[in-house]
Amino acid sequence: MEEPILKIRDLYYDYGNGTTALNGVSVDIYEGEKIAVIGSNGAGKSTFFLTTNGVLKPDQGEISYRGTIINKKNLKELRKNIGIVFQEADNQIIASTVMAEVGFGPMNLKLPKKEVLKRVEEALTYMNILDYKDRPPHYLSGGEKKRVSIADIIAMKSEIIIFDEPTAGLDPLNAQMLEEVLDKLGSEGKTMLISTHDVDFVYRWAERAIVFWQGKIIADGTPLEIFQNKEVLKQANLKRPTIIEVYDLLVEKHLLEDTKAYPISIQALREMLGNM
Ligand code: ADP
Repeated sequence: MEEPILKIRDLYYDYGNGTTALNGVSVDIYEGEKIAVIGSNGAGKSTFFLTTNGVLKPDQGEISYRGTIINKKNLKELRKNIGIVFQEADNQIIASTVMAEVGFGPMNLKLPKKEVLKRVEEALTYMNILDYKDRPPHYLSGGEKKRVSIADIIAMKSEIIIFDEPTAGLDPLNAQMLEEVLDKLGSEGKTMLISTHDVDFVYRWAERAIVFWQGKIIADGTPLEIFQNKEVLKQANLKRPTIIEVYDLLVEKHLLEDTKAYPISIQALREMLGNM
């Protein structure tokens, strides 16, 4: 069996105010997986992300990256390889120009200047913001800031990218732009974890969904498995994707034969109906 890129065992984290944000979280993550992390506000998703990339030190538990247990000495390696795109770009962006911002991480890796510049240019090109390189990031629009914060992580060449509610606050056009970037990163084999409340997005994008509830993982499977599990949906207060609702409704009304082959998109549903 393939070795997980990230092996997480029995993580506990308490913020010190009596809230147990993580209450025994174990999960294996494999290279190239596209994982959605779902669950209501306060379920522990962000805390899970922050402990996973070493920003927060778990009270208990163990994280192994490519077979090596993370400790104080090799923590830098973990941080370099697991990048987080934060929900609020303003909390992530620190520099006074887009170029300095995106170069900050690679500079900290003590890479040669030429390599830093190359990475910055590549990341800005990838995110289609090369023209913004001399602009102050704080005066960009929400969608543009989001691009900068993703370019930050791309320039680090992190093996795993975590996105904490990436579409929150974006308009439909920028949300679509973001999804295109996620698709592109996915097609390049990047390992990604994304927290979101958008169940339609989870259904069409993710290969695997992990459900958090009160600091624990209560379900882990394909999105279809998760969205068919009534108990999990109820416990985690999750809605079902629209397309699944529509499929079940059409079956219930005898407008579609129940093959249990749920369509992944409107187009797929249209084809199913066309065959009737
Ligand atoms: P989610 O990302 O799923 O919304 P969080 O990890 O942010 O969940 O929160 C898990 C729990 O930890 C919640 O009860 C929340 O109130 C608490 N919490 C999160 N961040 C902090 C913090 N900085 N200080 C104190 N408590 C926090």
